[in-house]
Amino acid sequence: MTDRTPILIVGAGPVGLALAGDLGWRGVPCTLIEKTDGRIDHPKMDLIGVRTMEFCRRWGIADWVRDAPYPGDYPQDYVWLTAFTGYELGREQFPGRAFEALPPESPQKRERVPQDMFDPIIKRFATSFPAVTLHHHTELVTFEEKPDRVVATVRDNLSDATRVIESDYLVGTDGGASTVRERLGIRMSGHPALTYTTNVIFRCRDFHLLHDKGKGYRFIFIGPEGTWLTIVAINGADRFRMSIVGTPTRSSTARTISVPRSGAPWARISTTRSSRSCAGCGASWLPTATAPPASSWPAIPCTSPRRPARLA
Ligand SMILES: Cc1cc2nc3c(=O)[nH]c(=O)nc-3n(C[C@H](O)[C@H](O)[C@H](O)COP(=O)(O)OP(=O)(O)OC[C@H]3O[C@@H](n4cnc5c(N)ncnc54)[C@H](O)[C@@H]3O)c2cc1C
Repeated sequence: MTDRTPILIVGAGPVGLALAGDLGWRGVPCTLIEKTDGRIDHPKMDLIGVRTMEFCRRWGIADWVRDAPYPGDYPQDYVWLTAFTGYELGREQFPGRAFEALPPESPQKRERVPQDMFDPIIKRFATSFPAVTLHHHTELVTFEEKPDRVVATVRDNLSDATRVIESDYLVGTDGGASTVRERLGIRMSGHPALTYTTNVIFRCRDFHLLHDKGKGYRFIFIGPEGTWLTIVAINGADRFRMSIVGTPTRSSTARTISVPRSGAPWARISTTRSSRSCAGCGASWLPTATAPPASSWPAIPCTSPRRPARLA
């Protein structure tokens, strides 16, 4: 079976969805294919920049983003610390998104809205146009460029059936490891990876009650080796991403976190504490589990004799 569309867009991440939405908004027919079911288990981006908000304004959906359920009063502080039970080294304070001023150069401000809130917004916008057709579970397998068209073979990942879609244009919005880019022989320039981290998404209600560093957007853990861990508040409520920093040859320091060691060096003492706390709530590190109330967690007092007062 062969389908025909003027524009075939491969990959319904934020870029593919935005392109489909923009084309639909202009009345240009297009087909968007996405190999997954579209669910976002691991939201990556969580900040909508000013320029993206200006696009949303043009499309008439800036208020959809503004009204996303990330709490407006959740402080956006960056906190540098040795451990949740250790020293706070510094804090850059930022207000909650509802209290951030507009920049002088734009009628829009950036918005702290994570991908699992933003993608559904942009998908709703894109699929509101009859010109836009979205197929989930549909993966680009290969394509061939002809003088007057592109012939793409796609697979239905539920049935394994393949079919052909012909288009005037094929657009690759299929992310960093793009099949389209590779098949066109377009090389990536620059460094292929900015960091090497192992990410753990965890759910924990009242996380801020488990330590004395308060609420913040990003907690940056500093050890003798530099930054070795960050924890980011994804939704300003109960969901967090812990990123354990590794190297090109060592994916992360996860083992030292999950295996408490006696007589460990200074940095490990803090990691062991974290590990004990998390082990104390059992499933709290699983993506869908909810941690028990903080009152049921084991008390882990800070034993540092030189613990300073908070800086902020
Ligand atoms: C931890 C982390 C934090 C980040 N934080 C931010 C931030 O705060 N703000 C920000 O602006 N950016 C952030 N980024 C970067 C941002 O996530 C990416 O720039 C953005 O996701 C790129 O969007 P995209 O649509 O190009 O690609 P992706 O989001 O990678 O989407 C590509 C889509 O294509 C699909 N696909 C791939 N191959 C095929 C195929 N063959 N057929 C069909 N579908 C296919 C994939 O399933 C996927 O849905 C972050 C990235 C990471 C890793």
